[in-house]
Amino acid sequence: MTKLINPIPLGMVKCFLLEGNTNILVDAGLSRSPDRIRRELDRIHVKMESIGLIIITHNHPDHIGGLAALKQLTGAKVLMHRLEADFLVRGQDSPAAPQTGFAKVMMRMFPKSEPSGIRSDLTFKDEFDLRPYGLKAKVIHTPGHTDGSASIVFDNGEAVVGDLINGRMGPVGRAATLPFLLSSRKAILSSMKMLLERGVETFYPAHGAACSADAVRKLVARY
Ligand SMILES: [Zn+2]
Ligand SMILES: [Zn+2]
Repeated sequence: MTKLINPIPLGMVKCFLLEGNTNILVDAGLSRSPDRIRRELDRIHVKMESIGLIIITHNHPDHIGGLAALKQLTGAKVLMHRLEADFLVRGQDSPAAPQTGFAKVMMRMFPKSEPSGIRSDLTFKDEFDLRPYGLKAKVIHTPGHTDGSASIVFDNGEAVVGDLINGRMGPVGRAATLPFLLSSRKAILSSMKMLLERGVETFYPAHGAACSADAVRKLVARY
């Protein structure tokens, strides 16, 4: 049996399985991730072929690296914000500026996106309703890490938020911090406030542990 939101750990990043009347994968990990994703799905008795939709939160190599292989293995359609879809076609990272010296160094070491020949099948501008997929949830435009970043927001107060927030990575440190790369600090703080106003109680980021609305309120208050 799976839960509604199933984190799939892939080392430095996570993707998520959402269980609807067709299964949905949120993000595609790194280029080396598809094998690991298959093993993790096996473990919870979910078949690759049961995935009918892959939602990409944004066009960065740790979120789309495995997309071409996963699309082939699952036959799933790909959904992303229309701004990110343009970068997927061009094979470019969606623009985001490093916020610290450490982030600059990390960025230089990180693989860059390359043209994969794949396109998104579905795009959206403000919202995309997942009710037809059997989930009481919407994909919502939450810009700030990149201009076309998206989050998946459930009616029950849970949300999968991509790189909107960095969760706590070890035993110490803050429960929620800003990501190392931003396209707009103003936009990312507005996106967080919007999700809080919509009643999100638990945030599942792609990097680090899940955090509470309270931790996100504290993060917003620091800026
Ligand atoms: Zn990113
Ligand atoms: Zn990321």
